[in-house]
Amino acid sequence: MKKEIPYKIYLSEEELPKQWLNLRAFMKDKPAPLLNPDTLKPMTAEELSGVFCEELVKQELDDTTPYIDIPEEVRDFYKMYRPAPLVRAYCLEKALGTPAHIYYKFEGNNTSGSHKLNSAIAQAYYAKKQGLKGVTTETGAGQWGTALSMACSYFELDCNVYMVKVSYEQKPFRREVMRTYGAKVTPSPSMSTNVGRKILEEFPGTTGSLGCAISEAVEAATSKEGYRYVLGSVLNQVLLHQSVIGLETKTALDKYDVKPDIIIGCAGGGSNLGGLIAPFMAEKLQGKADYRFIAVEPASCPSFTRGKYAYDFCDTGKVCPLSKMYTLGSGFIPSANHAGGLRYHGMTSTLSELYNKGLMEARAVEQTKVFEAAEQFARVEGILPAPESSHAIRVAIDEALKCKETGEQKTIVFGLTGTGYFDMFAYEKFHDGKMSDYIPTDEDLAKGFAGLPKVDL
Ligand SMILES: *Cc1c(COP(=O)(O)O)cnc(C)c1O
Repeated sequence: MKKEIPYKIYLSEEELPKQWLNLRAFMKDKPAPLLNPDTLKPMTAEELSGVFCEELVKQELDDTTPYIDIPEEVRDFYKMYRPAPLVRAYCLEKALGTPAHIYYKFEGNNTSGSHKLNSAIAQAYYAKKQGLKGVTTETGAGQWGTALSMACSYFELDCNVYMVKVSYEQKPFRREVMRTYGAKVTPSPSMSTNVGRKILEEFPGTTGSLGCAISEAVEAATSKEGYRYVLGSVLNQVLLHQSVIGLETKTALDKYDVKPDIIIGCAGGGSNLGGLIAPFMAEKLQGKADYRFIAVEPASCPSFTRGKYAYDFCDTGKVCPLSKMYTLGSGFIPSANHAGGLRYHGMTSTLSELYNKGLMEARAVEQTKVFEAAEQFARVEGILPAPESSHAIRVAIDEALKCKETGEQKTIVFGLTGTGYFDMFAYEKFHDGKMSDYIPTDEDLAKGFAGLPKVDL
């Protein structure tokens, strides 16, 4: 007889993952390497280690080791807020009247309010181990900056955060959480870096973008002794750390012999989705099982669904290596959208390659529809979801409603990446009927594509 499935499936400390899963090791066609923008040759460890911590460079370049040990100090930190619960959404199923079984992995149970802490603590650990004084980074909506501030204070590292100006102004509480944890927060673009000054000269009054904040943070790291740059998404090392999400999910489901049919996640740079699907995609790549994977992105920033698969700069200032990815062009600045964490112009190279090979699907959704789903979810499941996470909720609900039509009893798992307490201005707009759906025209996108670097390989 099948075991009754509880509302929440928890794991014991012994069941928590001891190794991260490196999805690239399972891929026959590897993601394209990062290129040096000047020579167009693959970036070497030596070149990268001027910007990133040594151990993280190793992880970034390693596409063959399937499992990598999680250091004990990092595992101990994980134990403070993990396992993240895997929730059976009984109440949502009932409200929808669907025969589908819905599960979500909830990553919002920590002060940073998102999954970002999983990688922040690992990156801070390696920086500390290397004897660095501190790290620099950018943050958009603020979740990554908050997570990194927490991780840096734990390991007593200096933390300099360049925060996209529009968020700095709209989310003063996030800023203050970061300062509570000892971080220095600078609105970007700023006058404190060359690239910031240049961008301000060219676009006076700009409210900034993630790509631009990245350029500033990289410059700040490379011009100061004892500092390195760290990044909260997009890179392969981040996907590696985020594999704890998927590993825990798989262990929990396996305990009850549950096999998901569809796995859904929102995709900004692709780290939570890459982490959630990691062990499942590894099985699919080995021909052991089959799953459908759906990446959900905002219609206002549609990297997968309308982007080009090409080498591009990771940042507006063009100081970072080139990465082959689905991209809207590093000069693309998405119109205001309330899912700040999904406003990046590109997508991690790993998921880009998998998408290109048809191993996963993608869907773009409009923000009013996303907030409708967020509210519906909050009212029955209790959790107030982040706008980013609500993209996944939207598609999970859509899939569950399809099951209602066909009578199929599919099992749907989605990633609930975080909570939305700092996004109440967005909810307010939605409630007041003042939220609009911005969808870029083909001409808008053409401008971004025109800035793609010419790379013939
Ligand atoms: C940053 C963030 C995202 C998007 O980033 P990915 O790297 O695509 O996972 C999604 N949800 C929340 C809550 C975030 O903070």
